[in-house]
Amino acid sequence: MPTGDAAVSLERMWAGWRSAYVAGAAGDPQDLGPAPPGGWEDDPAHCVFCRIASSGPPSVANGVLMVGRTVLVVLNAYPYASGHLMAVPLRHVGSLADLTDDESAELWSAARTGVAALEAAYRPEGVNLGANLGVAAGAGIPRHLHLHAVPRWRGDTNFMTVVADTRVLPETLASTWERLMAAWPGGV
Ligand SMILES: [Zn+2]
Repeated sequence: MPTGDAAVSLERMWAGWRSAYVAGAAGDPQDLGPAPPGGWEDDPAHCVFCRIASSGPPSVANGVLMVGRTVLVVLNAYPYASGHLMAVPLRHVGSLADLTDDESAELWSAARTGVAALEAAYRPEGVNLGANLGVAAGAGIPRHLHLHAVPRWRGDTNFMTVVADTRVLPETLASTWERLMAAWPGGV
């Protein structure tokens, strides 16, 4: 049943994004101290993505690959596969409906550019691109919208299923950053 198998694999792949550890290199949730009332995601000052947005231009240190007018692209510090990146609005906004037209257009444009870089750098057989909107959908940081892009190869879910939370990644984040920057459309 190829269709059924694919559905199970996709579910498991996305379940991997339900981690509270989704973050860029600029900060981990554990670094943020006690959560404010309502949770640390409610407060932009304690939001990982807002910290990344204020972490300066792209560098291997902050893991940021691109900063646009309203959106950035950053590596996931806890990648599901090497190359796992995220397109994130600079503004602390949690839902698609709250995006301005400019933010919405640039978010999609940044996702396209990120996928193009992934394809150029890693030559994957496929890419998962998507978002978990809300806690029930598996969002680790529900208050700050973000799109994930993960390179995929046939058979990689079989491997992932076996190892579950033990993700064996063949390269460091710094290597991933260098590789994607070198492949970034239009250059750095
Ligand atoms: Zn934020």
